[in-house]
Amino acid sequence: MSQREWIEKDFYKELGVSSNASTDEINKAYRKLAKDNHPDANPGNTEAERRFKAVSEAKSVLIDPAKRKEYDEARRLFASGGFGQGGGGFSPGAGGFGGGGGGQTFDVGDIFGQAGGGDGGIGDIFGGLFNRGGTQQRPAGNRPRRGSDVETETTLGFREATQGVTVPLRLTSPSSCTTCHGSGAKPGTSPRVCPRCNGAGVVNRNQGAFGFSEPCDDCRGSGSIIDDPCQDCRGTGVQNRTRTITVRVPPGVSDGQKIRLAGQGEAGLRGAPSGDLYVTVRVRPDKVFGRSGDDLTVTVPVSYGELVLGATLSIPTLDGRVGVKVPPGTVDGRVLRVRGRGVPKKTGTAGDLMVTVKVAVPQKLDDPAIEALHAYLEAEKASGFDPRAGWAGA
Ligand code: ZN
Ligand code: ZN
Repeated sequence: MSQREWIEKDFYKELGVSSNASTDEINKAYRKLAKDNHPDANPGNTEAERRFKAVSEAKSVLIDPAKRKEYDEARRLFASGGFGQGGGGFSPGAGGFGGGGGGQTFDVGDIFGQAGGGDGGIGDIFGGLFNRGGTQQRPAGNRPRRGSDVETETTLGFREATQGVTVPLRLTSPSSCTTCHGSGAKPGTSPRVCPRCNGAGVVNRNQGAFGFSEPCDDCRGSGSIIDDPCQDCRGTGVQNRTRTITVRVPPGVSDGQKIRLAGQGEAGLRGAPSGDLYVTVRVRPDKVFGRSGDDLTVTVPVSYGELVLGATLSIPTLDGRVGVKVPPGTVDGRVLRVRGRGVPKKTGTAGDLMVTVKVAVPQKLDDPAIEALHAYLEAEKASGFDPRAGWAGA
């Protein structure tokens, strides 16, 4: 989900309240919708689950006066074209996302995630825009937050990596608790909105001219109170699970390359989106082939005679063998190119096969061969060939 889509999200519409609804009205609407769409009441209903998460997200923003104000302002700015594509103050980095180059996808999880290492809410995004110089303290509690990204590694054979392969990956990582669907509350019960902070997770305190907000003690910043914690996850909404996922590795992947699998990382806490999974691919070297970018390299042993007279060699490729013509008079170490027989590319085409010829010198010959070689050297000299003519100043 892009940042634009996120701002286009209508939290008011999601909760079915007007844009000037009071906190009480918002809480009331949330409680009804959360109950109606609770996964316990709608087993297997993905639309209800989506709604359940969406109304939680909407509530968590609208219930917090500071966040709500920022959200309203952002939407107003957005509607008036204040967020230009690129160049504006809303590009990654400027708003505190950190990392990343241009053109990277940005999804809603990043808002609640640990971009920048913090435990930020929506304020992190708009912080750079609206809170310049502000020192608002973020609650350090366990409000819904995106799951962590997970990194793992897989090792592939050379040919698997070049041709593409589907591999099973076993992962042990925290996942959404299956018993409570990530809510943290015992099945049949729901978390209730924290009465002290009205679900905001922070309480405001006024001292003189300054207002401070600090994490709510009653709910430890989560905004909700679980009276009956789920026993399987002890109220965290997260369980450690071993799962096997199937990863399709595209053709042409090279050693050290990373593959991103969106949403396959750690489960988010209490219904928040999951993190991403990054798989670093290790490629085992091959006995025959090497790689240079999209080109496949192979070194083929040849005899001196084959280089002098020319020959057609049968060379292995990733896909059967190919006949490669060595022209007469080819020098040792020459590289012959076979177009389109290299590593497959994303575009559907392939790199080239680069064949290096390398003279193999016989270590043991029988008498007739040795005699013939002596005779040949004489004839070579007689025909005027001197391998060291012009060499080393001679
Ligand atoms: Zn649970
Ligand atoms: Zn509270």
